[in-house]
Amino acid sequence: MKHILLITTGGTIASADSENGLAPALTSEQLLRHVPEVSRLCRVSTVGLYNLDSTNMRPEYWLEIARYIRKVYNDYDGFVITHGTDTMAYAAAMLYYLIQDSKKPIVLTGAQIPIEKRDTDARENLTDAVMYAADDGACGVHIIFGDKIIAATRARKTRTKSFNAFSSIDYPEIGFIRGEVKYYIRERVCGEVKFFDEIDSSVIVVKLIPGMSAEIFDFIADKYHAVIIESFGVGGLPYYDNDEFVQKIEKLINKGVRIIMTTQVPHEGSDMGVYQVGLRIKQKYEIPEAYDMTTEAVVAKVMWALPRSKSAGEFAKLFYTPVGNDII
Ligand code: ASP
Repeated sequence: MKHILLITTGGTIASADSENGLAPALTSEQLLRHVPEVSRLCRVSTVGLYNLDSTNMRPEYWLEIARYIRKVYNDYDGFVITHGTDTMAYAAAMLYYLIQDSKKPIVLTGAQIPIEKRDTDARENLTDAVMYAADDGACGVHIIFGDKIIAATRARKTRTKSFNAFSSIDYPEIGFIRGEVKYYIRERVCGEVKFFDEIDSSVIVVKLIPGMSAEIFDFIADKYHAVIIESFGVGGLPYYDNDEFVQKIEKLINKGVRIIMTTQVPHEGSDMGVYQVGLRIKQKYEIPEAYDMTTEAVVAKVMWALPRSKSAGEFAKLFYTPVGNDII
């Protein structure tokens, strides 16, 4: 019988009513007690690493989760991490870069309604996640939510309330779960596990709005190591009455701040070469663009790539090198 480790971190799934609204309260053992049927399929041990609303999750905690999994990797056949849904897509993407090619499945799940409530989706999600983690065909890092198996770098929370809260963005779902049966649609790629232990979280996302001043980049130049610019459509930078944006971009480059262009449009990604507003930036500067990646995955990949690259060129090369199915 397979041995699965349930790692709990909080989130709605483990929450209970408090005077000030829902807050994580249940221990990992209490959570597991709500899904007794999984003991027919595998042995499950538990560890509670945090009990946080995922709004309070931070990059250091993702690193700690990855380090914990590395420490006990040989003791278990698979890992289930329960996590708040609000920042789960970021956590999943980060774990995907920190633990690459794992033959042992690492599954994140959570719920929209606490496990103790009558109409909860938590029992089904948790059961599915544990079952998947114990499946011979499973490997790598995924989110399981609302019957879907979603690649960690492709997931986004697209609904705040419904049970099908997560979507796979511009990439097919890896599979789906019906009762105890798992259907895999995509081939899963696994090999020798590689753990990474360093990230640089000095990263910010700037969403452009029409008419905005480029002054924000002065602040960023002094404070951050990388900025992800969510621009409009397939991508570009505004040229208003002066070339303020380009001047600020040059300032960032001179300061060694890495810049990555992406789009605020939810589907189909960037393509900076299409319009003059994008091409003039792309031709002049070594600024990578995210193409079809989600912003969540871009944030995680940039944090992972920063300490592994010494120049803008090295950074761009690493950013463009696909890790699994993160960029097409
Ligand atoms: N605020 C909660 C969290 O992210 C929402 C959830 O888990 O669904 O922790």
